[in-house]
Amino acid sequence: MSKKIILLVIASIIGLLALSLVQAKLIQNTYQLRKEALIDRNSEILGKIGSYGTTIDSISDAISITFFKDLDGYSLQKLSKEKLMNRLRVINDSLNPLFISAYENVINAKHLKFDLKYHKMLQSIVLIDSLKTDTIFFDKKSKNFKLIGYDFENDDELRLGTSTWETNRTFDKKINGVLKKGSYDVVFKTINYMNMDQANTIILTEMKGLLVTSCCIFLFVIGLFYYSIKNLITQKKIADIKTDFINNITHELKTPLTTLSLATKMLKQQNKNVENKMFIATLGTIERQNVRLQKLIDQVLNNSLGYKEIVLKKENVSLNQFIHTVLDDFEISNTNTIVIQRNICIKNQELSIDRFYISTALLNILENAVKYGATTIIFFLKRTNNIELSIQDNGIGIAKKDLQSIFTKFYRVDNQNIHNVKGLGLGLYYSNQVVKAHDGKIHVESEKDKGTNFTIILPIN
Ligand code: ATP
Ligand code: MG
Repeated sequence: MSKKIILLVIASIIGLLALSLVQAKLIQNTYQLRKEALIDRNSEILGKIGSYGTTIDSISDAISITFFKDLDGYSLQKLSKEKLMNRLRVINDSLNPLFISAYENVINAKHLKFDLKYHKMLQSIVLIDSLKTDTIFFDKKSKNFKLIGYDFENDDELRLGTSTWETNRTFDKKINGVLKKGSYDVVFKTINYMNMDQANTIILTEMKGLLVTSCCIFLFVIGLFYYSIKNLITQKKIADIKTDFINNITHELKTPLTTLSLATKMLKQQNKNVENKMFIATLGTIERQNVRLQKLIDQVLNNSLGYKEIVLKKENVSLNQFIHTVLDDFEISNTNTIVIQRNICIKNQELSIDRFYISTALLNILENAVKYGATTIIFFLKRTNNIELSIQDNGIGIAKKDLQSIFTKFYRVDNQNIHNVKGLGLGLYYSNQVVKAHDGKIHVESEKDKGTNFTIILPIN
């Protein structure tokens, strides 16, 4: 596989991966949004639980009344921290079944399509009185002390939010038999969690359409990508086979053609005095056709070289002189068909080029102008940062759709209106390869029926 195709495959795979990542991120975001919406919907239901039934109110009251009494005892140092917390746990545990049955009544009345469980966890209890701030309980992750609700695994829970409850408590205390008022502030922090076993199933069902469409599009893109690359590799293989075949066949044809040419020469020589007109004419035809075939094969062989295979013999050439010589030679062989206007705007410019290759490249373009209907050629030679050579003709022009392809090996425009113009589609390919071998560039501008302008840019080195 050529380097270009490997790079293309790598770039496409990277593109595909990037696309998949973006897609995955979008799906994840949608999942997250839907999950939040589900939590919002359910936290609304759970938020109202307290106001649904008197049972739940009474349970909360019962817990807080008992706990505050214990807290009074703690503030008077009659109860230790551990005992206080143990007693809170015992009260909660004893009232929890009541809470759960009241909660289930509320939830069942809602006819939800899934199990919605709930628990309230204690995060901290802080007691503040005139003497000190006393942290009675603190559990940063709030995983250890369940106040009320169901037991469920931490993994499945969804956090609803934190609530802080701050209150001032006054109570009667007896000091040395005298009744006095005691007072403290207490701050409770709790965290509410809910659990929906089927949360994922619910969300994924909601997202079913999106997931299926994404998968289908993704599979389609992969299929398309696989098909395109496979096609590209097949095309490249066919092109390589074609090029190899042409190179081989032209080489193979050369030997019999040379033998044929020698044989004709010998026949001519040995039959110098024969006056059979038919014989002489046939021999002449064989010779001419042989020469024609040889020329065609040489053209294919010489003009098929890629720019990497061209070995340049560069020399410093006086540009003005070089160009005038090329144009003079061309004019001599096309005297009656073409007029060349020369606009040579530089003097004494030397350039390191391969004389043979550049002149052939220029002649290919000039010959094309004549072949494709031009009566006038305007030739420009100027110097910018580089050397620019332009060959502008007033021929039949090239349609936009063909402009990209005319430098491709064996490409010929389908000029149905000029049937007699023959060629192999190698001239411009060759010119382009020669210019590339000189580190230059070739541009073409053309308008159908108006003319064509080829510009060769060569670096000054
Ligand atoms: P070859 O040069 O190998 O004998 P060719 O002239 O057909 O054959 P190229 O010189 O590579 O091949 O040109 C490719 C095609 O570009 C031509 O078939 C022709 O249609 C078009 N073309 C090239 N030069 C011109 C031009 N000056 N005006 C109009 N069409 C052109
Ligand atoms: Mg040509």
